[in-house]
Amino acid sequence: MNKKTALIVYAHPEPKSFNSALRDTAVKTLQAQRYNVLVSDLYAQHFQPVISKTDIIGELEDPKHFNYPNEVGAAYKNDSLCLDVKQEIQKLKLADLVIFQFPMQWASVPAILKGWFERVLIKDFAFSFPKMLDEGLIKGKKAVLSFTTGCPGGMFTPNGLLGDLNVILWPIQYCTLRFCGFDVLKPQCSFSPTHADDKQREEMLNAWGTRLKNILTEEPIMFPSLSNFDAQKWFVISDNNVEEQKNKEVGLSVGHHLGKKMPL
Ligand SMILES: Cc1cc2nc3c(=O)[nH]c(=O)nc-3n(C[C@H](O)[C@H](O)[C@H](O)COP(=O)(O)OP(=O)(O)OC[C@H]3O[C@@H](n4cnc5c(N)ncnc54)[C@H](O)[C@@H]3O)c2cc1C
Repeated sequence: MNKKTALIVYAHPEPKSFNSALRDTAVKTLQAQRYNVLVSDLYAQHFQPVISKTDIIGELEDPKHFNYPNEVGAAYKNDSLCLDVKQEIQKLKLADLVIFQFPMQWASVPAILKGWFERVLIKDFAFSFPKMLDEGLIKGKKAVLSFTTGCPGGMFTPNGLLGDLNVILWPIQYCTLRFCGFDVLKPQCSFSPTHADDKQREEMLNAWGTRLKNILTEEPIMFPSLSNFDAQKWFVISDNNVEEQKNKEVGLSVGHHLGKKMPL
């Protein structure tokens, strides 16, 4: 069997943090499963999260009007992207599994990781129009969000103060990762480690380690396929599909709930 490669994109500034312990658990478990493990430690690398003209080496295609997606897409094809982005793309190309390890910040990823999405998941490498969703250019790779929170799990339920976690994660899991073609696995949520006791924290680390032993056999989250949308109508759900969904009790996905009960 071919050796699998896992890339852990890790975004926490503190080496003694619980996120660091979750990352170490992943490294240890995956190496024991004979994975080749790569880590992008974004704070340690001083990863620059802001998109800019310096992401392109040399002449811009259109120096009069800076269009980032077009410029980096062309730079990707011409091999004129800056070194740190090239290195991240290279690691991502090698990966069968990508783990994003981070503390939830304002119901999303930390800014440094948002910057990784913006600078690495670029046009013509990660997606193009209409190469999206199950046709996305990253297809064939699995991704999983492993994150910690400050708030307890109950707050992320349909009755909880913050509302349904699936809604909170939709922009990352679907609009970003699935958009580019990743098969997105269920998230690993380590709720509120700061307020947990030692035993509960140990259980969270063990649960992650146990899951990782077979993670590549898991079924990804169900999302709509590109073929559900009508390219002639700027990718709204096709008439056929609307008809098909009409008598179903549950919506097509969290985002495409079609006014019905949301699927989980
Ligand atoms: C800007 C900002 C925005 C935020 N927004 C949100 C939000 O929207 N929603 C939300 O819920 N939270 C939010 N938070 C809170 C944040 O998500 C939590 O503080 C974070 O997830 C906690 O994880 P940590 O790794 O930083 O924990 P840490 O505080 O580093 O660790 C927790 C505990 O685990 C212990 N520990 C470390 N290693 C181990 C080990 N190996 N074994 C056992 N114990 C260990 C540590 O000593 C510590 O006692 C926000 C925080 C910031 C800074």
